[in-house]
Amino acid sequence: MSAIRQNLQAVRKQIAEAADNAQRAADDVALLAVSKTFGADAVIDAAETGQQAFGENYLQEALDKMATVRAQRPDLQLQWHFIGPIQSNKTRPIAEHFDWVHSVDREKIAQRLSDQRPEKLPPLNVCLQVNVSGEASKSGVPPEEVAAVAKAIAAMPRLRLRGLMAIPEPEDDAARQRAPFRKMHDLFTQLQADGLQLDTLSMGMSADMPAAIAEGATIVRIGSAIFGTRNYAKE
Ligand SMILES: *Cc1c(COP(=O)(O)O)cnc(C)c1O
Repeated sequence: MSAIRQNLQAVRKQIAEAADNAQRAADDVALLAVSKTFGADAVIDAAETGQQAFGENYLQEALDKMATVRAQRPDLQLQWHFIGPIQSNKTRPIAEHFDWVHSVDREKIAQRLSDQRPEKLPPLNVCLQVNVSGEASKSGVPPEEVAAVAKAIAAMPRLRLRGLMAIPEPEDDAARQRAPFRKMHDLFTQLQADGLQLDTLSMGMSADMPAAIAEGATIVRIGSAIFGTRNYAKE
């Protein structure tokens, strides 16, 4: 069995254990395999174990990879999630080629994605990225602006607002990892109480997955624990 397949098995087991510890059902937590910097062969290897959802950060890399996978394995039914920073001049190919976008961080980007989503495709699933750790350098909407921006996005015709996403500051201590995730869960339940139909909290990466699941993550975005250490120099 390949390393990727072994890693996927181990990650699925860790998800089940973290869900069990939080008295949640394992299938309430979906696994997004973050394949950025890895090739079509790695995606196909993972897909052959039943993994369908893949996350990508870099547009051109992702478009090339999608085309290669589709040419080699037209039988695979994959779902592509864009999770990287979005420049406004890159929204059209994102709207045309992805099933989900987790990294919507301003209303203007959402409006462009809605305007550019092809009519023949279903509405684009989106999450609003929240700047939960509060550094000026990080993308995401500040927590106090989330309600207004979420309501604006929920009204856009070609988008389906599914929920919230965050990338908290790295933190080694497992107990301290939970605070930003708890804050995200509070924001999420507040939006639901305000009447928005949301089902997705996209949070948790290889280094903080159990803490995110403990606080209610419904999608965890896992890269290096599945595919190995990324080598950005190879790009
Ligand atoms: C790269 C990336 C991940 C995966 O990170 P790992 O630490 O490799 O699991 C998740 N989310 C986003 C937004 C990323 O850019």
